[in-house]
Amino acid sequence: MATRIPIVGGNWKMNTNRASAVALARAVSSAVGGLGGIEVVLFPPFPYLLEVGKAIEGSRLALGAQDVHCEPDGAFTGEVSASMLRDCGCAWTLIGHSERRHVIGEGDDLVNRKVLAALGAGLNVILCVGETRGQREAGQTDAVNQQQLTSGLHGVTREQMRRVVIAYEPVWAIGTGLTATPEDAQAAHAAIRGTLGRLFDSATAGGARIQYGGSMKPGNAAGLMRMPDIDGGLIGGASLNADDFGAIVQAAAHAG
Ligand code: PEP
Repeated sequence: MATRIPIVGGNWKMNTNRASAVALARAVSSAVGGLGGIEVVLFPPFPYLLEVGKAIEGSRLALGAQDVHCEPDGAFTGEVSASMLRDCGCAWTLIGHSERRHVIGEGDDLVNRKVLAALGAGLNVILCVGETRGQREAGQTDAVNQQQLTSGLHGVTREQMRRVVIAYEPVWAIGTGLTATPEDAQAAHAAIRGTLGRLFDSATAGGARIQYGGSMKPGNAAGLMRMPDIDGGLIGGASLNADDFGAIVQAAAHAG
């Protein structure tokens, strides 16, 4: 079986201010500093990338952006390109987060263009997929994930897939306090790995890291992380508290 290094991301969304972002980054850095065998990425708001980057310099934390535009430059008011993010020290970007798909209205084609642009510019990508409550109740979870993966990863090479992490984030669990059971999450992750096998090959699928996201907290993290196809977490609310986020990172580091 492939050995996959777990990866945990802290998605701060549109929270913190300049001072609290730096303080949070420093607190997370000391909370997880001594842990090995795990990757940890912070996703602060765009305006704080540089200062958070400085605050975590020399630590084991990596810097990521919450979104990226699909064009390299030009007349796209308000947008931020992949090369700008790299210039600010980002190694990672989130793409296709459910709030961008369902609140901002981004479609699969745009998500795919962003994935290709980010990978082309040398960023690593966390591609988020997941079903709404209605889709789950209609038994469409695996079909929705398969469709979002197929279109989101269109044109991505096997080689590039080494720089892609999938975040399975059931929309109904994000920011709601509701969490998929470890068994339900595992079933979705196994199906996602099956889809990656069909889109690429079994070695690529076996090596791909698949995070769970959706109201992960210190109290439920260990049970989720223990599942064989869950390779870490993408954390929203709980990533704003260094102790809670640190406890989740610890659970991921000790899950293997
Ligand atoms: C997220 O924003 O990706 C997320 C999982 O949020 P929360 O942990 O708050 O549900």
